[in-house]
Amino acid sequence: MEPTDLIWMNGDFVPWEDAKVHVLTHGLHYGTGVFEGVRCYDTDLNPTHPPAVFRNLDHIERLLRSAELYYMPVPYTAQELRAATLELVARNGLSSCYIRPIVFRGSGSMGLNPLDSPVDVTIACWEWGTYLGEEGMRNGVRAKVSSWERIGPRSLIPHAKASGQYLNSVLAKIEATKAGYEEAILLDEHGHVCEGTGENIYVVREGEIATPGQHNSILDGITRRSVIQIAQDLGYTVVERNVARAEMYLADEVFLSGTAAELVPVREIDDHAIGTGRPGEITRVLQAAFDDAIHGRTERYREWLDVVSAPALETPAGEAPEAVPAQSRSAASG
Ligand code: PMP
Repeated sequence: MEPTDLIWMNGDFVPWEDAKVHVLTHGLHYGTGVFEGVRCYDTDLNPTHPPAVFRNLDHIERLLRSAELYYMPVPYTAQELRAATLELVARNGLSSCYIRPIVFRGSGSMGLNPLDSPVDVTIACWEWGTYLGEEGMRNGVRAKVSSWERIGPRSLIPHAKASGQYLNSVLAKIEATKAGYEEAILLDEHGHVCEGTGENIYVVREGEIATPGQHNSILDGITRRSVIQIAQDLGYTVVERNVARAEMYLADEVFLSGTAAELVPVREIDDHAIGTGRPGEITRVLQAAFDDAIHGRTERYREWLDVVSAPALETPAGEAPEAVPAQSRSAASG
């Protein structure tokens, strides 16, 4: 990870190396945090080709919903977090990056009742290339169905993007990569397909796109919503329903979607070639349409782009900037 100049921390922009927390941070011990993964892209928008954050407010709203589900009052409004994100990207002088906001229980009290621990909020960003690799993006990844069951609604909240929940994804990812695959696919307690460790999943058969629905312990992906809309706008049928394990093996095409991974073809699952073993036609069409959308080449999806308009502040090379109060901060104490 290549450090950037600044990280937004509880309302202030602090130098990257100073954005630290105490070892007794509640979230570190018990996973009491909620977070987002967001991407900012360089765009073809006129006249200055500004960078733009993809579906910024949708991510922030999901973050606030995740926080609410874990009883964490967030001391900032969605618009304050949105402005902080835009200013952070601008001040770091980045044209395309990954953005990681996190809301977590800080230090001050220990024990499983987190309600007396402070709620801290930070936003970091850095340049991050393709998550599952350039080769995977072009030719497809190899995936393995995990022996780990996806977390279910009787023990956790699959719809929340909460730190502790990711131990489930971490175990599945380690298992898959140790076995020589790029990604794991998790099933629920009924054997229905849920998703990858950090991506939603789609199976295509005879021109129809099927994807697990809201009751299948998925995270309601923002890329998923975008993909479904793009696919429908292009005239494809998209069905949200239970997907059986064997349907993946028998599909003409399988692909994954997520903010970090973007749209990635799956070429093999459990050593079965998917379709021809090459990325399929519909996957290719959707990949290209999604790429156009994130780079501002499609007017119809222009509303998904939150343009970074503030000018990047100049910092002399090698000199870390001072901690500066956020220009966007207001009523941060509430
Ligand atoms: N499922 C899980 C478990 C994830 O972590 C992610 C990544 N946030 C997704 C699906 C895809 O969600 P999104 O498209 O909003 O990034």
